[in-house]
Amino acid sequence: MEIRTRFAPSPTGYMHIGNLRTALYEYLIAKNEGGKFILRIEDTDQGRLVEGATDVIFETLKTTGLKHDEGPDVGGDYGPYIQSERMGTYMEYALQLVEKGAAYYCFCTKERLDSLKESANGESFAKYDRHCLSLTKEEIEENLKNGVPFVIRQKMPTEGTTSFDDVVYGTISVNNEELDDQILIKSDGFPTYNFANVVDDHLMNITHVVRGSEYLSSTPKYNLLYDAFGWTAPTYVHLPPVMKDQSHKLSKRNGDASFQDLVAKGYLPEAIMNYIALLGWSPSDNTEIFTLEELTEKFNVSGLSKSPSIFDIQKLTWMNGEYIKNMEFDRYYSFVEPKINEVLGDLPYDRKVIATLLQKRIETFNDVKEQIDFLAALPEYSTELYFHKKMKSTVETSVVSLKAALPVLEAITEWNNDNLYGTLSALAAEMGIKNGQMLWPIRTALSGKSASPGGASELAEILGKEETIRRINKGISMLEA
Ligand code: GLU
Repeated sequence: MEIRTRFAPSPTGYMHIGNLRTALYEYLIAKNEGGKFILRIEDTDQGRLVEGATDVIFETLKTTGLKHDEGPDVGGDYGPYIQSERMGTYMEYALQLVEKGAAYYCFCTKERLDSLKESANGESFAKYDRHCLSLTKEEIEENLKNGVPFVIRQKMPTEGTTSFDDVVYGTISVNNEELDDQILIKSDGFPTYNFANVVDDHLMNITHVVRGSEYLSSTPKYNLLYDAFGWTAPTYVHLPPVMKDQSHKLSKRNGDASFQDLVAKGYLPEAIMNYIALLGWSPSDNTEIFTLEELTEKFNVSGLSKSPSIFDIQKLTWMNGEYIKNMEFDRYYSFVEPKINEVLGDLPYDRKVIATLLQKRIETFNDVKEQIDFLAALPEYSTELYFHKKMKSTVETSVVSLKAALPVLEAITEWNNDNLYGTLSALAAEMGIKNGQMLWPIRTALSGKSASPGGASELAEILGKEETIRRINKGISMLEA
């Protein structure tokens, strides 16, 4: 049997990290076995439609490499893949259930339902009292003929239990008497998620339903629908929530980052995917860094955990840094160049030299600014920066070194890192001082910072002779004052 999984997002306009992790696991479960990964857009909540939101979903799948085999944009044999384009189907199947006695029309007004809720006396929900279950055939026909608004409800069994086995959570059982006669078709004619997911998963031949654990408790109701139709229910894989901390779920609505936000913050899509793969799954060999292809090979549902995992931005940041270090230079450069340009504007410094220095040092592309803004403008700094124990550099030795370096630098004709380093080291040797006593003060004078992406000769190479001399002179006058 070919494995078929589906990603079924509602178009919200952003990609929640938990949803993206669901998509990733769906992709991996299918692809690990050479199966199909399907995209279905669940847009039946007409009150919540967001313009352009479907494009965000397409874009995200494209950027992350989760290539779907079927979907609204790529087609397939089981379309349409957008629920709002499948309206006739839902009604047809709902009416089949009415016919079989597993569902019924309900004409209750909002006022009546509200009063039921009120009389529930603080209980979390009031079950529908099945008022319309006792309508006669004639009454129903009369109502339909008069255009009385209706919904279609699932008729739940009132005794016994319904159970199913979840791959992650094990056996889940509910007492049928607790089940509400949930709405399948709403009064606007649209199906509820509760109905559409069952009809579509069946018609699209989905073998594995992978989704958030918030659907765990409703799944028995879905299985009752499968039973009523005489269909086989899929294998269920429910996933624990991704948490922001011990007690709060990660939630875009509460301002937590979406996939788009993370990319805007300078994270690489492949690092994000690598990191989220580990939010609820671990490989048997405990490796941490893998490409999507490696992950596809390694992935196994037995590594899924039911304990919620916390989204740790520091860990993601570290991982992103590892990805940046190992990126092929040209690709890395395409990400970093615009960030460098933002800081440098028209300044004629060599972008590629700067990029090379940064590659080992930045963890996200948004670190660029903080790393190199001193190149654009020397910051105000304290002469205490010239003091460095290990380099044996003090304020006093620094003045001496900087003054000695000036004429030597002036005389250099080939202004490059190697030459600069060689010349300055030779000068230090001549003066009988440690290299650090020469290089540290120059590095400090050129950057005005306690740390910089590169040492004295590297920074001097970028800044050029004129600016280097200017900054060293500035350092000397600060130290002498
Ligand atoms: N549209 C649902 C959601 O975004 C899909 C749940 C499912 O995968 O069945 O939560």
